[in-house]
Amino acid sequence: MMRGTSASAGIGIGKAVVVEETDLKIKKETIADPEAEKVRFQAAVKKAIEETEVLAKDLATRVGPKEAEILNGHLLLFSDMFLLGEIENIIAGESVNSEYAIENVCNTYADTFASMGDELMQQRATDMRDIKTRMQKILMGVSSVDIAALPEGSIIVAKDLTPSMTAGIDPAKVTGIVTELGGKTSHSAILARALEIPAVVALEGVLNKVTEGEDIVLDGSEGIVIVNPQKAVKEEYAAKREAFIKEKKELEEYIGKPTVTRDGVHIELVANIGKPADVEKVLQYDGEGVGLFRTEFLFMDRNSMPTEAEQYEAYRKVASAMNGKPVIIRTLDIGGDKEIPYMGLEKDENPFLGYRAIRFCLDRKEDVYKPQLRALLMASAFGNIRIMVPMVTCLEEYREAKALVEELKKELDAKGISYKKDIQVGIMVETAAASLMADVFAKEVDFFSIGTNDLTQYTMAVDRGNDKVSYLYSPLNPAVLRSIRHVIECGRKEGIMVGMCGEAASDPMLIPLLLAFGLNEFSMSASAILNARKLITGYSTRELQAVADKAMSFATTKEVEDYMKEFIRRS
Ligand code: PEP
Ligand code: MG
Repeated sequence: MMRGTSASAGIGIGKAVVVEETDLKIKKETIADPEAEKVRFQAAVKKAIEETEVLAKDLATRVGPKEAEILNGHLLLFSDMFLLGEIENIIAGESVNSEYAIENVCNTYADTFASMGDELMQQRATDMRDIKTRMQKILMGVSSVDIAALPEGSIIVAKDLTPSMTAGIDPAKVTGIVTELGGKTSHSAILARALEIPAVVALEGVLNKVTEGEDIVLDGSEGIVIVNPQKAVKEEYAAKREAFIKEKKELEEYIGKPTVTRDGVHIELVANIGKPADVEKVLQYDGEGVGLFRTEFLFMDRNSMPTEAEQYEAYRKVASAMNGKPVIIRTLDIGGDKEIPYMGLEKDENPFLGYRAIRFCLDRKEDVYKPQLRALLMASAFGNIRIMVPMVTCLEEYREAKALVEELKKELDAKGISYKKDIQVGIMVETAAASLMADVFAKEVDFFSIGTNDLTQYTMAVDRGNDKVSYLYSPLNPAVLRSIRHVIECGRKEGIMVGMCGEAASDPMLIPLLLAFGLNEFSMSASAILNARKLITGYSTRELQAVADKAMSFATTKEVEDYMKEFIRRS
């Protein structure tokens, strides 16, 4: 058994097809007529564009416009005047063949991207190598492996799959993908998920361990690959595949259904997002709104702050796409584990207890907070935006943020710019202080959203990223549960909405307890929504009261966990 990174869920059972791209031998050749060579190069680019357009169109109709975007990105590269100009300059300046000039220029870019380390840049490197090879193959008359013509029941085993290769895969024929390279968010992983083909990536050395035609089973959800499995193992995986397909079908039945408990309590089931493009998944999984837009992602992977106009555009997009459904946008939550180099934050001795989130924003009102709040207000004219303040520990922080919002509203009024006049401003309850003071906060703020990721960390005094102490990190710890119950009770008493956007909101062991406590809104990753709807609609909050009472009577995490596991097993 080998273990890699799970890139696309599901079980694949089939025969290995080892896809090895022929290594193109690129030779440097001196050419007599550089002008003619440039024409040859331009013709190859034209052909590459035509081929990619066909592939993009096919993908857009088969899968969707977002997936075709990846190939549209390649089209942009093929028409990037700067890139093409550089290649032509080398052809003309050094009197060399196109293949060599392409190799030189594209490799330089790809290597630079790859050396930057982060996954987005790795993706750009892969894209660059992909378009490089495609141009060279056209020039050299080498045809690609015809992935579309693979027999039924194929499991592709490759070093890496370029987006253009993945896009050509027919899901009716290919039941799995295994690659040596790549990551969860590489373009080929995204395409594999869109095509719903189980995939395991980043499996080192797999090409040396698999030969063409061998039996393979893989579990894309767990990142497991087994070569030449025994009959019993194969049967076990066949059963798993059946169960996976059945469960997926069952969950799809919950699309379009209201989220109401058996005793008629309406729950808002909403999604966490990090960028505007994530809205597509929210709609796909029938999210009833956005419960947390982590705006710090707009600030990441770039060299300078997004401008007010860029932020406005991002917020407006989400608000419009959600079409009047609630969209809770959290103001910048940086610091702690979320670093943004160009912000000039010094490394704190204790980053989680330091200069972060609202503390940082209130200190940088003019250049950071006001532009964000103004962008949010202006975007609120296009939908049901609510503003959420993170990491609040004391009332003054909320009051100061709220006063800024009021000041900016007046500014917009004076300029005649429209915005949602009654825009709600709420807080994340994710510090022990905010929880203890929830009764006081509830009288002033418009809503609560409990951030259990941090609330657990700050309640238990346990770094959420430290493996050595992770045994202490559980929202089922009685202290954390009491905190959660207290916040919900305080919010409900004052009649404000209480939501939860930490990971606990989608945890099957917590959902019954949260329902019993009276949580109004559950926010989670879009892919968890349908399962949560299935669970919630199966419960009666009234019947859950006794379960919650019992769970709250225990003194240790282990007892709570055992009890909830047993309750779920029985229900
Ligand atoms: C949380 O702390 O629970 C939360 C939702 O925010 P983040 O994970 O972004 O800190
Ligand atoms: Mg948090």
